[in-house]
Amino acid sequence: MNKATELVNFEQCPGDPFKANSTPIYQTATFELNSALGESKYDYTRSGNPTRDVLQNQVAKLENGKYGFAFATGMAAINALTGILKPGEHVIAGDDLYGGTVRLFTQRLREYRGISTSFVDVTNLEEVEAAFRPNSKLVLLETPSNPLQKIADMEKIAAIGHLHKAIVAVDNSFMSPWRQQPLDFGVDVVIHSATKYLSGHSDVSGGLLIVNDDSIAKQIAFIQNAEGSALAPFDAWLILRGMKTLGLRISAQEKNALHIIEYLKTQKLVEDIYYPTLTNHPNVKIHLKQASGGGGVVCIRTSNADIANDITNNVKLFKRSVSFGSICSSINVPVNTSHLAIDKNKRDNMNNLIRLSIGIEDHNDLIADLDTVFKKVRKEKNYA
Ligand SMILES: *Cc1c(COP(=O)(O)O)cnc(C)c1O
Repeated sequence: MNKATELVNFEQCPGDPFKANSTPIYQTATFELNSALGESKYDYTRSGNPTRDVLQNQVAKLENGKYGFAFATGMAAINALTGILKPGEHVIAGDDLYGGTVRLFTQRLREYRGISTSFVDVTNLEEVEAAFRPNSKLVLLETPSNPLQKIADMEKIAAIGHLHKAIVAVDNSFMSPWRQQPLDFGVDVVIHSATKYLSGHSDVSGGLLIVNDDSIAKQIAFIQNAEGSALAPFDAWLILRGMKTLGLRISAQEKNALHIIEYLKTQKLVEDIYYPTLTNHPNVKIHLKQASGGGGVVCIRTSNADIANDITNNVKLFKRSVSFGSICSSINVPVNTSHLAIDKNKRDNMNNLIRLSIGIEDHNDLIADLDTVFKKVRKEKNYA
């Protein structure tokens, strides 16, 4: 089946006697047991819930995986993945990652759990190879990365990781399974902040892990139950509902993004544009090998922090807001918000960077909003 069909045509209510066309929300903590021996498919929602199961199965299918696991947030999903690591083990991570991920690895794993992380440029395979130590157990990357949209070759990194017997995980929040399916390239674990494109409406937090390997799946299932970080039934339902329009939304957001990029190219205030399918992106070929589009996030570099902040402060239609992937366009300066936790040198180098998440509004309205602001800022700063 084509993905467009899979998004709306799936088993929405297995075993439901009324054959509802939308997944029932099993808003219950407990289930009546079949016998004193407790032999029932479901007993307790922390351990399993039918609504969450529908989401887990659906997202596994969309990512071409066997098992899906849903968590309260994207960070809870990533933290659950790190639960397979033991003190003394080592992680190799991309050097341009979501700030919350960096915070988890540096301020929780390193400081409290004895797990060290090397942050490396995953676009440079020699650097990846050189980072391995005998105790390296996990490689974690984003491609495209957030916010600089660096592209890593998933197939090659998975091969290097497997030579060293490490698990390779890719955070696919930027692309979503509509555009990229990392398991197809030999990756072991796909991560999602479902808060972003999968739900798509800025109305729910959630995180997902998708895997093929039975033994990794078993460990994650154990951690999800033991640590109690699974997603609640109503939130699972919201994400399921959002996912049905994933393809329509991303296709529209991408189309808008390309129109906006054409406008941005004409603007003197914009020194650089970061978007994975631009012909001058250094790794555009690798991106097009592993993804079918560029998504809806566009980052721009302005001359200085002042200009970046001024633009962000003066937009009207774009919402000044963290996160991305919503149907409403948003704007932020990552170093002041989503990426506060990255180290200071890197922050200083990105303080003139704006991240735009493009929504489904009419692109002419979005461009008009930016154009009004750019004119105003140019005038105030005496910028020709
Ligand atoms: C937002 C985000 C996360 C964290 O997800 P939450 O749902 O906010 O916990 C992880 N990775 C990436 C790439 C993100 O953008």
